[in-house]
Amino acid sequence: MNNSNKKQLFIFNTLSGNKEAFVPIHNDMVGMYVCGPTLYSEPHMGNMRTFINFDLIYRFLLHSGYQVKYVRNITDAGHITNSAGEQEDSIGKAARMEQVQPLEIVYKYNLKFQELNQTYNLLPPSIEPTATGHIQEQIEIIEKIIENGFAYVKNGSVYFDVKSYMQSYKYGELSGRKVDELENETRALNAQEEKRFFADFALWKKAQDNDMQRWRSPWGDGNPGWHIECTAMSTKYLGETFDIHGGGLDLKFPHHEDEIAQSCGATGKSPANFWMHANMLNVNGKKMSKSLGNFFLPKEIVEGTSELFSKAYSPQVIRFFMMQSHYRSTLDLTEDALNAAEKGFERLTEAISLLESIHVGDTSSFSIPLCIQGFYDAMNDDFNAPILVANLFDAVKKINLIKDNKETINAGDKDFLLSEMKCFVHDVLGLQFSSDSGDDRLSPVMDLVLELRQKARTNKDWDTSDLIRDGLKNAGIEVKDGKESTSWK
Ligand code: AMP
Ligand code: ZN
Repeated sequence: MNNSNKKQLFIFNTLSGNKEAFVPIHNDMVGMYVCGPTLYSEPHMGNMRTFINFDLIYRFLLHSGYQVKYVRNITDAGHITNSAGEQEDSIGKAARMEQVQPLEIVYKYNLKFQELNQTYNLLPPSIEPTATGHIQEQIEIIEKIIENGFAYVKNGSVYFDVKSYMQSYKYGELSGRKVDELENETRALNAQEEKRFFADFALWKKAQDNDMQRWRSPWGDGNPGWHIECTAMSTKYLGETFDIHGGGLDLKFPHHEDEIAQSCGATGKSPANFWMHANMLNVNGKKMSKSLGNFFLPKEIVEGTSELFSKAYSPQVIRFFMMQSHYRSTLDLTEDALNAAEKGFERLTEAISLLESIHVGDTSSFSIPLCIQGFYDAMNDDFNAPILVANLFDAVKKINLIKDNKETINAGDKDFLLSEMKCFVHDVLGLQFSSDSGDDRLSPVMDLVLELRQKARTNKDWDTSDLIRDGLKNAGIEVKDGKESTSWK
């Protein structure tokens, strides 16, 4: 990277409500923790949006020259609160329904999750620790919180003592929630008998008879509470205070608020300097969620099997579509918007290949460094990918004008623009061109083969149609028949 482009990065910090200059604790090393998935089912497209947004953030930090330790956990234990706010061990429930062990559930869906990470071209984090692998660390932190007087034991469970905590710290700093405002919500939701104060939350829950997972602890057999795993794993891998803590906006309260309370209660230190929250993927204005039933799976949209869309879209188009909205904005996924993104992505990739072979002159008629600076400025302003995309399209316009001999570019500038555009599209936005996988040359051949197969199917010549499909499969090409069209990968 050209060092003159390395300007100050500003990040919107949920904790202060402002964009702040980002200065890591340890020079050029960044520690980032992002709350990962609860793997009791296949992650939906909304979950993936959050992980794709943090992948973008990770990629730009790497591109800016930082050495990043990116920790994204896997929740595979704990009494987890579902989006209706009730305490529920969702993994245990899935295990009972499918009559398997809880970790079989997690293993199965983690394979799917890892596959999705590849499909959507997410870089692997530095480490993906699990809650079940860190029970001891969770117990030790709970012990410290008790020792410091911010938690109490009741009937084999341990609760965080919000009233005692509020004598030394502020509770609600991140979410802006006031304890008295919480009262009505909380009262309605959980059995409160064991708690001293309605806002107290569980650090450790005594095992129930039907709990399939349980661990020994100084307070008897039980399960960790929902929030403590993230405190244990972030502290273990990144230290007591690290640079960035991220997650979906719906985790701000109570999950992240309680993480702050747990860290302060255990070590006296706030866990993260910057709190970042990615906004929700909506369907018709409502948050996509399992409990509302308005979700679809990431694979359905690439296979063209979702009822919401009449055709399949490539993961690159979906990712590109997501990049056209800022991570702090809500996003509605519609067919029209995806079609527009498909066209836009094509225009961008075509312009980049046009630039590769464009006619160069002696001079450039516009400032290439200024054009490239626009890419950096967009991302340095709180990872503003939509502005980056708009600036890339300004470059696309210029490329088309050069082709029409209305603008000129010299050889050095051409190479510079080409390498920076490729870098921002590939490395920062994480978009792959179809030519990266050799699909470009294969495409006309596949069109022909699929047409022949379609003919065979129309003639009910199933032998030939299966022969083609199986032959392609042996060659590593998977054919999917959607409702309206057939796609391949
Ligand atoms: P979960 O598996 O429920 O713990 O969620 C994993 C991540 O996905 C969390 O960071 C959530 O905030 C995020 N998430 C859940 N629903 C959505 C949605 N509709 N849009 C974006 N992110 C979401
Ligand atoms: Zn978390």
